[in-house]
Amino acid sequence: MNLQEIYLTKNPYSRPDKRLTAVKGIVIHWVANPGSSAMQNRNYFDNLRFQSTTYASAHFLIGLEGEVIQCLLENEVGYHVGANRYSDLALKNLSSYPNNCTLGIELCHPDWTGKFTGETLQSAKELVLELCERYNLSRKDLYRHYDITGKDCPRWFVQNPDKWEEFLGGFPAV
Ligand SMILES: [Zn+2]
Repeated sequence: MNLQEIYLTKNPYSRPDKRLTAVKGIVIHWVANPGSSAMQNRNYFDNLRFQSTTYASAHFLIGLEGEVIQCLLENEVGYHVGANRYSDLALKNLSSYPNNCTLGIELCHPDWTGKFTGETLQSAKELVLELCERYNLSRKDLYRHYDITGKDCPRWFVQNPDKWEEFLGGFPAV
């Protein structure tokens, strides 16, 4: 896995410089921007500092060739699962504000089906496995954005739950 650390500029909209209370879960997303690269999405987050309406970011971005960009430190709050309401599962296992105790990983995809490339999935597996080991997490601590807020994200794993189960199968059960 080729990981580059290219941190966002600190700013209220994507890098608020707040600390996580703990790392209780990892949330998987799609970028919802077909064909875009990890760097383009990293720059999108970075440029949010020039506006004043949108809050968005994630800790890691994984590109179509499997390239990984880390743009927030692992102890920092990112804005990837904020919503007006959260699922009972999230309220029970995470907190009333899941952004304060989760790491967000955004995966790039070639088209609107949201299907990921083999390279993207391979890097995602390696990264998630490493994070599971570091924070003592297991399969049950991995979430689709959908599981927390009901959003159609990441679309491929929401529309194809069997593929999500297959992905989860690569991680420790406990
Ligand atoms: Zn998402």
